[in-house]
Parts: sequence; structure tokens; C-alpha cells
Amino acid sequence: MSRSGEFCPRCGDEIPEGTDERPELAGAGGQRNSEHVLCDACYFEEFDLVDAPDTIQVRVCSRCGAVHKGNRWVDIGAEDYTDIAVEQVSEALGIHVDAQSVAWQVAPEQLDKNNIRMHAEFSGVIRGTPVTEEVTVPVRISRQTCKRCGKIAGGSFASIVQVRADGRDPTDDERERAEEIAEEYIAAREETGDRNAFITETKSVDDGLDMKISTNQMGQGIAKRITAQLGGSYSDSRRLISEDEDGQELYRMTYAVRLPRYRQGEVIDPEDGDGPVLVRSVQGNLKGVRLATGEDYEASFEDGETPDARRLGFREDAQTTTLVAVEDDNAVQVLDPETFESKTVPRPDYLDTDADEVPVLKSHAGLHILPTKGDDTETDE
Ligand SMILES: [Zn+2]
Ligand SMILES: [Zn+2]
Repeated sequence: MSRSGEFCPRCGDEIPEGTDERPELAGAGGQRNSEHVLCDACYFEEFDLVDAPDTIQVRVCSRCGAVHKGNRWVDIGAEDYTDIAVEQVSEALGIHVDAQSVAWQVAPEQLDKNNIRMHAEFSGVIRGTPVTEEVTVPVRISRQTCKRCGKIAGGSFASIVQVRADGRDPTDDERERAEEIAEEYIAAREETGDRNAFITETKSVDDGLDMKISTNQMGQGIAKRITAQLGGSYSDSRRLISEDEDGQELYRMTYAVRLPRYRQGEVIDPEDGDGPVLVRSVQGNLKGVRLATGEDYEASFEDGETPDARRLGFREDAQTTTLVAVEDDNAVQVLDPETFESKTVPRPDYLDTDADEVPVLKSHAGLHILPTKGDDTETDE
């Protein structure tokens, strides 16, 4: 590769024998003629260690904070865009391929909320000569609306999840839980970088909750999770929205969640002669405990989570009263919390006869002792 006897194409000086091959700036394409190698003097005269853009624009979404990178929006979960600016400037800077032992640092200077001046300092060694170079790149943070936020603002959605309950209205707890489940599901999808995951609208209606979801698949995923955690079931139906020019039919899906008729913590009377039941689980067949005896109760297979039963009240309605006396294996005396008269009531096996006070529920079916919260083996998912 000796270039002996060659002359510098710029100044005409002869180039000393044994000079190494000197490739030119990478990426500069045909702008520089690498066929003819310059002498050191001419080479350094036009040498740039760093190739820097005049300015950098960092596009961020003013609604969700996402950053536009490459050709797409990315959630970065940052309030401060300085790091992003440093990163994008660093990526945009080109260093001469001939440079060796290159070291560099970038220092951001925040001018105002939307403007950062990036000072970059480089050092390296070229043709055995140490060189340094400083460049300043102005960075402008441009606040825009990302695709997803644009869709949300435009009210775009593909499916609706309706949360209702069988024979009653969903409780505040159930509404809250259903909303949380949807938000957690969407957040988990976002976490994986899925920018198609969003809830356009959550609306409380008289008999439940309506949520507009970005895709069918996610609407179904949410309906599935709500029923897995709160019991009940869901059905889907589709409605033709429009036909596009190609005759493609566009449907919108509705996932109708029906929460179970009875809920955990409710006291019901299946009217089978064995007295009231505190409901412990409505996932699968309704399960509970008999208030008169403490025995387990499970609805028959056909009845599932909705056996025919009379509603008597809720665990929250229980009052604490005095345990007056233990009569025998089947009966104790407690004070009626309303009249303060001593009453003989059934003695369930979960009752701790050493207790001074016990929780009782007074209903159409009479006065019954409830399990204390700690004894309860309710399976709360
Ligand atoms: Zn020259
Ligand atoms: Zn956004």
C-alpha cells in the first residue's frame, strides 16, 4: 500500500514514502475523493473530527409524555427530557472514522422549558496528532400530540366493556374494582410497549359501568379478568358500524359482564329449611357458611352462583352485641342490639364461647351470629 512517488492533489507537494492509507470521512459518500490522498497539511486544513447537525428537534407528546424516536412514538415515563436530548444528540453526532482513542462528553445547558443547548467536547488522535473539537447543538423540545393521544382525544375505540350485575346494581366496590382491573390490564400492555392499549372513556351509568377500549382483543381480556376476579360471566355481541370502500365490514364488539346475583359477604336464605347462609365465594358454585350451625353450604351444580334465595343483608350490616350466656351445644343467649333484651339464638360452631362480644345480623330471618372477620376463610382474589 505504499504511496511512494505520489503527489498531493491539493497543493502538489510530494507525499513522503511509506505514508499509510488514509480513508476519508465515513458516510460522506463521494463528497471527498478518496482516490487521491492529501498531504498532512491539506488533510488537517479540511479535517472535521465531529460531524454535527445544525439543530436537533426532540418531539414529545404534551399529553402523555411519549417521545418520538426513529419513526415511532415511545413511552419513556420521564418528565425531564434532558436525558432524551443528550441521547438524541449523541446519536446524531458522527465521528471521523480515522480517529483513534476518541473521548467525548456532552453537557446540556437548559435555556428554557423547550430549549437546551448541548455542548459536546471531543478529543482523539489522527495521523498521530492529538485533536480536540467542540460543537454546540441547539435542541428544541417540540410539544405535539402523539398518535395514541390523538386517537383518545378523537374518541376512537373498538370495543365496549359493560359491567352489570344479575338482579341488582354493581356495588361501588365492584365498580371501582372493575375499573382498576381494566386500568391494570391496559397498563401491563403499555408496559410491553404496546401503544394501541388505551381506555378512551369510563362512564358510570345507573346500573353499572361502561368502558370504551381501544381494541376488541383488549376489551375481551378485560371482561375475562373482571369475571375471573369478581365472579359472574360475560357474553359478546358485535354490531356493524360501517363498510369501507373495499366492502370490508367494520364491527364494534360489546363485552357484557354480568356480575353474580349475590356477592361475597352477603347473607341469603336459600329457604331450604337450614337457615341463612353467609356467602363466601361466588366463583363457580356459590359457597358459604350456615349461620345456625357453621356448616358449609354449596349451591347445587345447576344453580351455580345464583341459587333461588332471599336476600337478608350484608356482613357490613352486622352489629356487635354482648354474648350473655351459653345455653347448650346448640343455643346461646345474646342481647338484641336494638331492644337490648336477652334472646336465645342458634350456636354456630365458629362461635368462640369465651368471647364477650359477638357480631350479629338482625334480619327477617331473626337474629344470627356471624363469624368474626378473622375466622373467616373468605377467598378474596
Ligand atoms: Zn497538500
Ligand atoms: Zn401521547
